[in-house]
Amino acid sequence: MSVAVVPNFVRARDADTAEAARLWAAIDQPRLRDLGWDHDRHVLIVARDHPLMGWKTCEVQGCDKKKGTAREPLCQGCRKRWHQSGRPPLDEFFHMPKPSWRSIGVKPCEVPGCERPWRTVRIRLCAAHWWQQRQSGQSLTAFLARTDLVALGALGPCLATACYRDRVGQMPYCNSHDQRLRVARRADPDLDVGMWRATVSEVVVRGEVSFRGLHPRVVGEVLFGIQDRLTRGMATREELLRQLCIQARASGAATLDIFCIGVCV
Ligand SMILES: [Zn+2]
Ligand SMILES: [Zn+2]
Ligand SMILES: [Zn+2]
Repeated sequence: MSVAVVPNFVRARDADTAEAARLWAAIDQPRLRDLGWDHDRHVLIVARDHPLMGWKTCEVQGCDKKKGTAREPLCQGCRKRWHQSGRPPLDEFFHMPKPSWRSIGVKPCEVPGCERPWRTVRIRLCAAHWWQQRQSGQSLTAFLARTDLVALGALGPCLATACYRDRVGQMPYCNSHDQRLRVARRADPDLDVGMWRATVSEVVVRGEVSFRGLHPRVVGEVLFGIQDRLTRGMATREELLRQLCIQARASGAATLDIFCIGVCV
């Protein structure tokens, strides 16, 4: 199954704005909020146990990744680890500790009150507090027990349009987009950074889809399409929905063929 995006490369016109308003009027806002729509951030965060948009997770203790298929008990990463560990009995493997650094989520720094994101799941501190910890030579536990730590304010949002993470330091991006920009610049020294910011995709997080940077009419079309599918009891795969939004953002589409949402997702 594929996502057939049919972008219409017209610029935003009055007709598109009017159509966006018409679609929004037809969307059940409380139902959309219940589904996980965050209007301020323009992000859809679907609950794992949603009957039509949720997913079954890998059966390894502590792993929240999606299973490969309905019959497959493991996610791709755990399947690989299972092979690498000599294919032990699965019910034993389910209870073996999973290396935690494989997680890609971002949480706040663990210094109480600090609003900056942690560097990595292993470091658990923002860049500034991590530097302070290394200077002190203390373990993380000893460092966090100190009473003289000063909580730091957030540095502001990442400048990649699709992203809803915070910056982590002096650079105007979150860690992931800073790294992605370095790679993109190495590949193309003449990279148009403004265009890159506007079109680069968000950091993929299970259950979350960014609608940021999409034309309002496209946002309305996709959300209306989801509502229509839910009403008809049809499941919608989050990864295809994300791909649809990524392609619409990258193409600068002012509208999609609404039927592609109903037929292809
Ligand atoms: Zn797993
Ligand atoms: Zn911090
Ligand atoms: Zn970012």
